[in-house]
Amino acid sequence: EAITVQELANRMAARGGEVVKALFRMGVMATLTQTIDADTAELVVNEFGHRVRRVSEADVEQGLEGVVDTDEELLPRPPVVTIMGHVDHGKTSLLDALRKTDVAGREAGGITQHIGAYQVTVEGGQKVTFIDTPGHAAFTAMRARGASVTDMVVLVVAADDGVMPQTIEAIHHAKAANVPLIVAVNKIDKEGVNLDRVRNELLQHEIVVESLGGDTMEIPVSATKAMNLDKLLEGILLQAEVLDLKANPMRAAEGTVIESKLDKGRGPVATVLVQRGTLRQGDLVVAGAEWGRVRAMLDDKGRQLKEADPSLPVEILGLSGVPSAGETFVAVENESRAREISEFRQRKLRDKQAAAAGAARGTLADMMARVAAGEQKEVAVVVKADVQGSAEALGVTLNKLSRDEVKVRVLHSAVGQITESDIQLAKASNAIVVAFNVRATAQARELAQREGVDIRYYSIIYEVADDVEKLVRGKLAPVQ
Ligand code: GDP
Repeated sequence: EAITVQELANRMAARGGEVVKALFRMGVMATLTQTIDADTAELVVNEFGHRVRRVSEADVEQGLEGVVDTDEELLPRPPVVTIMGHVDHGKTSLLDALRKTDVAGREAGGITQHIGAYQVTVEGGQKVTFIDTPGHAAFTAMRARGASVTDMVVLVVAADDGVMPQTIEAIHHAKAANVPLIVAVNKIDKEGVNLDRVRNELLQHEIVVESLGGDTMEIPVSATKAMNLDKLLEGILLQAEVLDLKANPMRAAEGTVIESKLDKGRGPVATVLVQRGTLRQGDLVVAGAEWGRVRAMLDDKGRQLKEADPSLPVEILGLSGVPSAGETFVAVENESRAREISEFRQRKLRDKQAAAAGAARGTLADMMARVAAGEQKEVAVVVKADVQGSAEALGVTLNKLSRDEVKVRVLHSAVGQITESDIQLAKASNAIVVAFNVRATAQARELAQREGVDIRYYSIIYEVADDVEKLVRGKLAPVQ
């Protein structure tokens, strides 16, 4: 009644390292080739948001069943898009403008509800889902909880302002998440804008747009004048085709919580994005550690729905409490199952809080264990420095520390104090934060403490190199 970690990962179509990590968080140290018992495997499977069905004793022997979808079951689903970019470059305006292009909404005449995400139907019937919380903080916060929601990022760059610090940050967040990017050069209605300047600035950050021979789509738009929105949507759908996005609608629903709140009249309300399966009114769901029967389901036009298929964001009512954004939800067959999963998740949450309260050593301890066990092939670093020269020098120095077995990857290197966004990025990618002659904001420190992200302070470059080298060898002592 056992299964190897690798086999379990294969059956869930998950990465081996992710399963090792999940086990590690549960206090089980196992390498890919080691076997774990069926009960432990079941907990892991639930953690990954899948359902477990032990059909017979023979089945238990094989571990789990019914996890992987076959090719025939997989049908195309709409892309899920997040809009990122520098402040004031037009993210909100673009989200509003795109929303107005919805042909289905026009017919139905519903009233716009801001539920955290919306779906538009374009001419011809294809659909696109937009996450309505602009900015990379939300994007990375979700990723930090293990949720991969976004299929692609639309990077908004104001033509009159060009690439700015948060544009660069957004590029790094998208790259760290391995999500393709489409550039929307906004405000082209303004006098004397220079698209070539924007293109060259992007080039300096390794974003090569098509007109310069690269493969990043670039679409000039105006959010306020509603120019080229159709072209942007076309571009998104083209990218979606390349990504070959599919999901099986014929199974119990699974997905991610996008937003949630406690509503005075309606009780706990959560906006969830269905990612696999079909969610139905009356379904029993577990969202994070909360559970309940879906009493009502509403779309972004406030219309009541009976069903929601993959990539559709819906507001659900009926949960016992308010789950956090980024947590997964899954429809289950009965109440005892719902309780079981919810209790396991609550236990895990308590363990995590206890661990974080002990010391901010989560990421590092985790990373060290995996490097030492040969499970981790990469040490990721976020660098913040007081001056550009130091940031660059650190980037070069750190990259040189890569070895065959373990690579050093600088996710983001910039000038300025450490912000919550840096911590989110580090958390999402299991990175450490190197602070070179800079400090962290109070909020960032608090978040790092809570999430177990390691911030290391330095003022001498070779000391950074020294520590990261030790990390690469799996031999650095955690900060107490
Ligand atoms: P965000 O901070 O990125 O969400 O930016 P906003 O959407 O709030 O836009 C910032 C400012 O730029 C607002 O005053 C908008 O009216 C203006 N703006 C946004 N898009 C355009 C555009 O396409 N053309 C022009 N001229 N102004 C725009």
